[in-house]
Amino acid sequence: MTEPTAVYLDYQSTTPVDPRVLEAMLPYNSQEFGNPHSSDHAWGWRARKEVEGARESIAALIGADSNEIIFTSGATEANNIAVLGIGRMLPKGKKRILVSAIEHKSVLNSAFSLINVNCTVELIPVDIAGAIDLVFLRKELQNGVGLVSVMAANNEIGTIQDIELISSLVHSYGSIFHTDAAQALNYSTLHVNSMDVDLLSSSGHKIYGPKGIGFLYVKHGLTKFMQPIMFGGDQEYLRPGTLPTPLCIGLGKAASLLAQDRPVEIERIAKLRNLLFEELSREIENLQLVGPSMENRHAGNLNIALPGVEAHQLISLLQPNIAVSTGSACTSGIPGPSHVLSAIGLNKTEAESCLRLSVGRFTHADEVVSAARMISDAVKLVV
Ligand code: PMP
Repeated sequence: MTEPTAVYLDYQSTTPVDPRVLEAMLPYNSQEFGNPHSSDHAWGWRARKEVEGARESIAALIGADSNEIIFTSGATEANNIAVLGIGRMLPKGKKRILVSAIEHKSVLNSAFSLINVNCTVELIPVDIAGAIDLVFLRKELQNGVGLVSVMAANNEIGTIQDIELISSLVHSYGSIFHTDAAQALNYSTLHVNSMDVDLLSSSGHKIYGPKGIGFLYVKHGLTKFMQPIMFGGDQEYLRPGTLPTPLCIGLGKAASLLAQDRPVEIERIAKLRNLLFEELSREIENLQLVGPSMENRHAGNLNIALPGVEAHQLISLLQPNIAVSTGSACTSGIPGPSHVLSAIGLNKTEAESCLRLSVGRFTHADEVVSAARMISDAVKLVV
């Protein structure tokens, strides 16, 4: 019997580095190793030039100016700098923070830590599709809110929020708006000026760039209302430390490839995701789509409930042949059902039957078909 070919369907957890990105990075690990902050010599100047080029590519992807981009170690750090940076400086009378109930833990836990500096934090509820409750938001905004954070695309159920609308509502009450776009850049054009966001976080390893690098967009003029969370040199003002040249270059290259390929890629990926859903629905009885409709979700995301199945058990049966997950890799060590699935109203048993599958740049149709077959065969063994 031939072994089935392994299929990776966990692009929302992390993406492989695009070979074009790797190629761009490689010389900066060896031949061109200069410190981009060494302003006295040519090694430093060359590294600096490349880092600034990368910053420009990232800025272009989101319609920002390059001096509004701060390199970070990833979206976790970017979210911490945004939420803590603003939160610790909120003036009296503005110390309320609103975050959606389905935020990533790096936003939720940063926000809740601000209780120690006399802030209050409230969760904005979401509906069964994960869309935030705008009536709740409008009502709460009337009452001393300094900061609102709502993610652009959800990492488990793929909900896409109306960032432009939310941002204009938040600004109409004089509050600051942050969005975690770690999952969003792959599926849509997010332009910070037209969407009028104040702060936007994202990550390299979700867009075919390297792990260990991300960025925070900070709108012009806002840094004076932010406190750094780490102290050191003044390399990135809000973020000290020597920049990792190869990683910055990798993120810049990933950003420019995305800007170039995204329109075609979104369509291709959505078709593959739809094919995956069709194949699974045909083979598995009672399969349910979890979260928003297929049209209204992240192009690569699928989240399905398999009644009567314990997802963890199913996934372990599928090893080492298929990478799918029960939810976010960042919460995989936390016992209990996902806070995202609980927030959209699923009970513990329902939530524990859910599987997140995500396709991406290097997924092929034949892989999707063979993965669907392997998954449905495994489901028959566990129900
Ligand atoms: N926010 C979201 C929505 C995410 O999906 C992730 C990664 N799971 C993060 C933040 C954290 O990103 P990083 O791994 O770059 O710290």
